[in-house]
Amino acid sequence: MVIIDLELIMKTLKFDIIIVGGGPAGSTCALKLSQSNLKVALVEKATFPRDKICGDAIPGPAFKVLNSISPTWADLMNNFSKSQDIKSSKIISTNNSNFTINWFTKSYNSKRIDFDSFLFDIVKQDTLTEIFEGVNLKSIKVNNGTNLISGTDSNDNEIQFQSKLIIGADGANGICSKKLGSIKMDKNHHCAAVRAYVKDIKGLEKGTNEFYLIKGFTPGYFWIFPLDHEKANIGFGMISNKISEKRLSLKKALKEIISNHPTLKERFRNSTFESDIKGFGLPLGSRFAKISGAGFMLCGDAASLIDPLQGHGIDKAMWSGKWAAEQAIKCFSLNNFDVDFLKDYDKKVYQKFGPEFRRNYWILKIISRFPTLLNLITFAAQNRLIKSFMQKFT
Ligand SMILES: Cc1cc2nc3c(=O)[nH]c(=O)nc-3n(C[C@H](O)[C@H](O)[C@H](O)COP(=O)(O)OP(=O)(O)OC[C@H]3O[C@@H](n4cnc5c(N)ncnc54)[C@H](O)[C@@H]3O)c2cc1C
Repeated sequence: MVIIDLELIMKTLKFDIIIVGGGPAGSTCALKLSQSNLKVALVEKATFPRDKICGDAIPGPAFKVLNSISPTWADLMNNFSKSQDIKSSKIISTNNSNFTINWFTKSYNSKRIDFDSFLFDIVKQDTLTEIFEGVNLKSIKVNNGTNLISGTDSNDNEIQFQSKLIIGADGANGICSKKLGSIKMDKNHHCAAVRAYVKDIKGLEKGTNEFYLIKGFTPGYFWIFPLDHEKANIGFGMISNKISEKRLSLKKALKEIISNHPTLKERFRNSTFESDIKGFGLPLGSRFAKISGAGFMLCGDAASLIDPLQGHGIDKAMWSGKWAAEQAIKCFSLNNFDVDFLKDYDKKVYQKFGPEFRRNYWILKIISRFPTLLNLITFAAQNRLIKSFMQKFT
């Protein structure tokens, strides 16, 4: 054991590609890269299973990504047992009017501690990716087409890696976007949210995710996403510029909502918190960012790709992980690592997600300016035609 540690201290481990981060973006990227002959390492600071603060709603498009890589892995995802199928979303407006949107494609809620481990385990078991779990990447040096990166393992031993390409999938607070990209936090394009696990909420509907729009707390929403055993993931998120403007504490706001809201206070009266209330940031995809450059590509939250309206990011993380892998495979097969060639990845991401991000950001801004419009929208959505139109675009 000691000999191996000493070896790691001395050696620079060489790979074609190093993926930093084993969340949905990094794991999906590794799965796609496993279909090439490239030598790939995945460096992950946590040891799985690890938690990730999230609403735990795995959106429909996430299922399509895996299917586009391998129907066998998609089957595993479809039949993952630690999940709760979701068939509809219910939107409850500030005046308590509501409407329900039914989903016809597969989607479910699954605790991220389970779902992320499930994906990571496929990488571990079904691919030749070399996995370095418990290794915290700390420094990156890009030099003449060769990247040198180093990190420390749980015993504080330094490990050094070398690769032609780095794929930064290390999430919202990772170091790749800070050291390699030029994405600066902008509160107009950033949300913050808190979540907790709660048991015994009255009237919990299995199969329905609930979104409450709360007076005084717009634009943003309070959610109840059902899990198994009468539990739910509940949370509240808002755009960061409004949080600062209103000097809000999201944890206090969440408690206030479930204690004072006319219907929620009844539903939460006999409920029990099974976790602390924890918060995390959501970097939104509502502005164009540079997500590739000399020797690197960024994906998922590291590339700031969360949907501005719904706060969904797992599907975007998985798609961008797949596209980064496809671009990397092209770079190696054509031996072309030019910055301009890597930009094809940026183009693909923004061609696919750009229109949705722009539309949803525009809706967010209108709601932010005219919050009472929400009541009108929920009223209108009770009309079948308008509802089916909205179903198409959510
Ligand atoms: C409160 C909240 C609720 C949300 N709800 C939903 C939801 O219901 N549905 C949805 O689709 N999206 C939701 N999101 C967004 C979603 O969580 C993210 O978009 C998604 O996790 C992005 O995946 P990722 O792989 O890019 O990053 P992550 O899942 O954050 O994974 C990054 C990985 O990188 C590792 N890492 C970080 N730094 C280093 C380092 N230095 N060295 C090595 N490894 C490192 C981390 O340990 C982690 O495993 C929510 C977000 C928040 C904050």
